[in-house]
Amino acid sequence: MIKVFESFDFSRVGQMQSLLESHGIKTFIRNQYGSSVMGEVPFLEVVPQLFVLEERDLVKAREILRLDSPVESTEANWVCPGCGIDVEGNFARCWRCGVERRAVGPGQKAGA
Ligand SMILES: [Zn+2]
Repeated sequence: MIKVFESFDFSRVGQMQSLLESHGIKTFIRNQYGSSVMGEVPFLEVVPQLFVLEERDLVKAREILRLDSPVESTEANWVCPGCGIDVEGNFARCWRCGVERRAVGPGQKAGA
């Protein structure tokens, strides 16, 4: 198992788990019941931690989590040039196909 996310806010960890599972990634939350033993173990020991079970899912999981992390600035939604879906403005890349927001433009060719 590889840890990909942790937060004192368990509901946030749960959200991340749901998000990853929706992408077909098997996950596991450790310290899920940490609050019940609060006071008996050091606080750091009970931070809910989200793990992926399969190492091959690690890169994808991190990408998904990174995409989900909101950026301070609030921007208008944009349409992904890769797959055409509507993407929220605070995402730098398409959550669906991974195309970068600014990387694709008229006449622009990567690696040319
Ligand atoms: Zn896309």
